[in-house]
Amino acid sequence: MAEAKTYGLGDVVLMKKPHPCGANEMEIIRMGMDIRIKCRGCQHSVLVPRAKFEKRFKKVLIAAPKKEDEAATE
Ligand SMILES: [Zn+2]
Repeated sequence: MAEAKTYGLGDVVLMKKPHPCGANEMEIIRMGMDIRIKCRGCQHSVLVPRAKFEKRFKKVLIAAPKKEDEAATE
């Protein structure tokens, strides 16, 4: 895969697997060891381990504005 998986806080992302409500767009509302995402369909939020999130993550739909100092993060 040539495309890098980059995502960040506040991004709206497209997931491979839809939420039970039918929506597959999620907003990242917390970043850390685990990532909290909120469904844009039903507003339900879930905490998922980063590895699991990356498996389900497809792409960023709407990128949140980035701060300059985030570029240095690995
Ligand atoms: Zn939902």
